[in-house]
Amino acid sequence: MILRTSEDYRESLRKMRPNVYKFGELIEDVTMHPSTRRTVEGHAQIFDAARTEEHKDLLTTTSHLSGERISRYLSIVGSAEDMVKNVRMKRLMFNITGTCTGGRCVGFNALNSMWATTYDMDAEFGTKYHQRLTEWLRKAQKEDITVAGALTDPKGDRSKRPSEQSDPDLSLRIVKRNDDGSVVVRGAKVMIAGVAAANEVFILPGTGYKEPDADYALSFAVPRDIEGLTVIEARHPSDGRDAECGFDNPVDYGGITQGYLLFQDVHIPADRVFMAGEWKYSMKAVLNFIAPYRSAIGGCVAGQGDVIMGASALMARANGLSEKVFRDKLTKMTINNETTFGMGIAASVLGKLHPSGVWIPDGKLSNVNKVHVATLPYETKRLAQDIAGGIAETGCMPSCEDIHSPVYGELLQKYLSAKCSGETRARIARLIEWLTIGAGVPGCMHGGGSPDGAKLVIGSTSDIESLIALARKVANIKEEIPPPERK
Ligand SMILES: Cc1cc2nc3c(=O)[nH]c(=O)nc-3n(C[C@H](O)[C@H](O)[C@H](O)COP(=O)(O)OP(=O)(O)OC[C@H]3O[C@@H](n4cnc5c(N)ncnc54)[C@H](O)[C@@H]3O)c2cc1C
Repeated sequence: MILRTSEDYRESLRKMRPNVYKFGELIEDVTMHPSTRRTVEGHAQIFDAARTEEHKDLLTTTSHLSGERISRYLSIVGSAEDMVKNVRMKRLMFNITGTCTGGRCVGFNALNSMWATTYDMDAEFGTKYHQRLTEWLRKAQKEDITVAGALTDPKGDRSKRPSEQSDPDLSLRIVKRNDDGSVVVRGAKVMIAGVAAANEVFILPGTGYKEPDADYALSFAVPRDIEGLTVIEARHPSDGRDAECGFDNPVDYGGITQGYLLFQDVHIPADRVFMAGEWKYSMKAVLNFIAPYRSAIGGCVAGQGDVIMGASALMARANGLSEKVFRDKLTKMTINNETTFGMGIAASVLGKLHPSGVWIPDGKLSNVNKVHVATLPYETKRLAQDIAGGIAETGCMPSCEDIHSPVYGELLQKYLSAKCSGETRARIARLIEWLTIGAGVPGCMHGGGSPDGAKLVIGSTSDIESLIALARKVANIKEEIPPPERK
């Protein structure tokens, strides 16, 4: 069995070169610093849970490379059953942490995408990318590393391609190719989940490119602390709330954080390069990424929805009401949760095996799921705020320090109390605030790509002519009705 303990994991982060900044300060130890500690602890939960009887089947699997028991996050998804377990694993991790552990799952998706894409590239071009990726993965599994995944480029003017931008660095690109196959890259990847908690980052092209943008068709994996890479952590709503008494930042682990990755002429050794200019395969890499990602994210938001429902019912009880008063609202929340979860499962089951051995979920259903994921959780969050009252809606209550003030704390506790103590009610309210408008909110809207992008894929997979033919047949219509002539 090759599985790190959570302490091995923390130790591996402590050994890395400090290159993560926040609020203008270099973070010397990401496992201890208040800005990064919680995301590290969220990811540490994966290691703890993987070692339990209860969760080991979901969080671990057998490596097809070594035959050893490994983390599922470093496996190749080889069947519908594996993909269903992936969706369920995401739900489980949101149940445990309340938020996103994207520092493992995005990299997991990225390496699976490139497993298929490198196989196809090698078949067409005679390159050796698949063998390189196999060797990288073998080592990654052996060391049980945590791998973030990065696709999103800054992009600049959205109406222009990368090479048409006033600054060519607005998408990550190759600036030098060496005879030994290594490359030098410059640019950035932005909004990357869980980077501070990761040992490595797996890079994919940000979108599909044409020949003039061949230098942007790029995939590789690097240590997060590689020379020339600087990470700037995004500010998020719970920042500055790491006070001594603590419950203003309601969970000890979790809290999604995203990093801006600045690549300043970083040298990528050849054995870590998995695409270097093969523009024809850049869109393939993205599509191979989004099918599993947009299936599994249905499990993520359902898992968070479970916690939101629990917190809402708890607040009803804290207010002295039975949750039955809110039965309709809670039922609607269940429907929302199970819709995205069920769509993710359906997309998984109806996928296909790629010749490389990767199971790729159904493209249409996974993109339909992305649109639901960008819609339904917001209703669930609205309902939670509705049930919980103003105290949770915008965190409309005094801070933890005020509630513990020797001067007026006792009075605040009295006026916050209902069917339970004032402090407990405040804790539940802060949790709901965190889950609905705070740092616990996963990227429902844009994480895994924007819903409009998903709608484009859905539109392109709908064959209207064959649907018209069905309707004509059912109604026995013989007359031809051609489409209007294009002007
Ligand atoms: C919580 C969270 C976690 C994330 N984690 C990761 C991660 O781990 N890894 C990663 O790679 N990325 C991550 N992302 C980034 C995410 O993938 C992007 O936000 C997403 O792809 C959208 O890109 P954008 O933010 O640049 O939006 P934009 O491109 O600015 O899009 C904004 C809107 O404009 C529309 N639009 C854009 N271009 C055009 C056009 N040419 N024509 C018409 N409409 C257009 C879009 O459809 C959208 O509606 C994360 C994002 C969030 C919020």
